[in-house]
Amino acid sequence: MTTAEQEIPGYTRPRTRLLPEPGPESEAFWTGGRDGKLMIYRCRSCRRWFHPGGPACFRCRSRDVGPEAASGKGRVAAYTVNHQQWIPGFEPPYLVAMIELADEPDVRIVSNVVGVDPDQVAIGQEVEVWFEQWDDVWLPLFRPVKGESA
Ligand code: ZN
Repeated sequence: MTTAEQEIPGYTRPRTRLLPEPGPESEAFWTGGRDGKLMIYRCRSCRRWFHPGGPACFRCRSRDVGPEAASGKGRVAAYTVNHQQWIPGFEPPYLVAMIELADEPDVRIVSNVVGVDPDQVAIGQEVEVWFEQWDDVWLPLFRPVKGESA
């Protein structure tokens, strides 16, 4: 796992982004990057991961849940390449992907895959988390695992 200080070759940080407003159940997710950790809710009873976080495990209904550090590894489950500029300062093309976590494939995160030509991304491609810091928020973005080609 990498930290926000490192740059990704081939990736230019956008001038602006729409940022989340972390709440009690999402704060760990949006700030875990400070420690280089992808924090995902996990049930301490059945040990299953789930996302987004909530007050109870939706599988076993246990309320003994909380964020834990996931591996940060995953695969591209689905993606779309956006060529339209919707946000000033956020230049296309950019790739929005649904990432299934290696820790639990039915836990999926919508994010961007960066540091790679969008044409080189494929379903099933292995990716790892990389954090982009914006003030008090560390956006979990994903990049191809080194050595992996589409
Ligand atoms: Zn559970």
